[in-house]
Amino acid sequence: MDPEDKKRRGKDTGMIQSKQIEGPKLVLVVDDHEINRDALGVILEDAYHIIYAENGKEALDQVYRHAEELSIILLDLNMPVMSGFEVMERLKKDEQLKDIPIIVLTADKSAELKALQMGAADFITKPFDIPEVILARVSGLLERSEGRKLISAAEHDWLTGLYTRNFFFEYANRLFHYHPELHLDAIVLDIEKFHTINAVNGREFGNTVLREIGGEIRAFLSETEGIACRIEADRFNIYCSRQPDYHTLLDRLQRKVSMLSLKASIHLRMGVMLWNQDIEPILMFDRARAACNMVRGVYQNPLMVYDDEMHQRELLNQRLLNDLNNATKEFQLKVYYQPKYDVQSDPPRLKSAEALIRWVHPELGMISPGDFIPLFEGNGLISIVDSFVWNEAARQVSRWKKKYNFLLPVSVNLSRADVFDPTLVDRLVKLIEENNLSFKDIKLEVTESAYTDKAQDLLNIVKRLRDLGFEIEMDDFGSGYSSLNMLSDMPIDVLKMDMKFIRNIEQSETDMHLVRLILDIAKYLRLMVVAEGVETEGQLNLLKDAGCDLVQGFYFSRPIPPEEFEKLIEKDMAIGG
Ligand code: C2E
Ligand code: MG
Ligand code: MG
Repeated sequence: MDPEDKKRRGKDTGMIQSKQIEGPKLVLVVDDHEINRDALGVILEDAYHIIYAENGKEALDQVYRHAEELSIILLDLNMPVMSGFEVMERLKKDEQLKDIPIIVLTADKSAELKALQMGAADFITKPFDIPEVILARVSGLLERSEGRKLISAAEHDWLTGLYTRNFFFEYANRLFHYHPELHLDAIVLDIEKFHTINAVNGREFGNTVLREIGGEIRAFLSETEGIACRIEADRFNIYCSRQPDYHTLLDRLQRKVSMLSLKASIHLRMGVMLWNQDIEPILMFDRARAACNMVRGVYQNPLMVYDDEMHQRELLNQRLLNDLNNATKEFQLKVYYQPKYDVQSDPPRLKSAEALIRWVHPELGMISPGDFIPLFEGNGLISIVDSFVWNEAARQVSRWKKKYNFLLPVSVNLSRADVFDPTLVDRLVKLIEENNLSFKDIKLEVTESAYTDKAQDLLNIVKRLRDLGFEIEMDDFGSGYSSLNMLSDMPIDVLKMDMKFIRNIEQSETDMHLVRLILDIAKYLRLMVVAEGVETEGQLNLLKDAGCDLVQGFYFSRPIPPEEFEKLIEKDMAIGG
């Protein structure tokens, strides 16, 4: 019998013309065992045209011959003459052929991972599954591929060559369920302030950074077992077998990007969740990401392995998220006020206050904003809290105006999420009108870090608010990255110097020097300066002598409830308001 015929297993494949793509799709079945070829032939023959090969070499011949119209290859791995792995390797090197989708036929589960790394799109397990499953796998993949280019576009990230999110999780789940023996860990890798890197060095450079990281991750995965994807702009997921030391991996990737540019100073951070037989990949990666977020802005040792403490923290977070609804209904949220004093008058005079949220939880007691504000900022719930605080503060200012005829503007904090809320301006205008206030009665604190991302949009919005008449205070100035020379373009009236500058001014001449520098620049730009976190008389005197206008801190008062705050108002009025 003509060997060609034998391979065809009696199917009329020789008749396929290159333009016959509209008809049944062409499938190449490669297996050295006739019984396997037969089995697949029987299953697939009603739906597809089938051609066969007995080993890798014949498979390549068939591929070259039918390159134009071949839709899919079912490929055995262990074969004489040329293995399936070698076929894949050859095809991957060929621009024309590298995108033909391949389903690997294997009895050896441990080979799946390697095949996947080499570009296989799916598996059919031997001995063969029930026919419906095989048909579904083939048609599913064909649907996904819809012409060959799409499959690589759909499953590989164009920039890094790593997998896409969906594909990654599909296979991570598969590995988790079918290969419990692999004990794969979840790693999340993130680039510190990637937007700034893009903004300063251009997107092309940003892309180069991502590509290099992708390349290095692939190199790493060729030495160990695992898969990886780019999950978001600058975040990578790696699912790999346990490494003796994750610092080594982080150093390796860090070294790669550091070589790109010394002046761009790119910093990577990494979170790890170690394998746990009861935790599915999606949750493992959530936790690895939580760990990774813990080391945001940490440059010394930006690696965190998820541990029990973090788990407790997550449980608490979950609880706070669940309880917020009740908190607003049951009046557990309270607004406290902390005074700001004009220290250039003698004695210092009460000038304004900052509204600060407190949560008096029925079971957990008093929770400070540091414990829940960042949490709610991360998921949009912050606007519930902030609206509450703004309303409460506006009502309070109005009450004090009536009660004391005393001008006491109150600052409220705006988070990033508020600033990008399209209804922000309307909300604030309504707030002023409903409480019969003027725009000068409520000041807006916008934290410095909000200005670093999407700077232009933010500046436009803040400028609109300022044009309406709101005074804008830049909160936590100096805690992040805004440079002094950006200040002149910013629509702000007041700088709130971050606490960390103040903390050591009594001990450190350098710190005091920095404070003087900031005060000088602010004066030049005609900005008022508030020093935050002033706790001692010594700090107060140094700041006063250096010309600082306003001081806020425990030295004068902690944030206190409004009833208590009234004592401060009365005291100040007695001085001669
Ligand atoms: P912030 O706006 O910079 O507020 C100043 C923080 O410094 C307050 O912490 C205040 O209690 C604390 N502080 C004031 N003086 C001193 C001092 O002398 N020494 C020390 N060690 N700390 C001092 P608090 O109330 O825990 O708030 C923390 C942060 O939470 C605030 O920082 C602000 O960013 C945020 N926050 C508070 N309330 C709200 C709110 O209603 N909305 C939003 N979006 N954020 C809020
Ligand atoms: Mg503030
Ligand atoms: Mg502050």
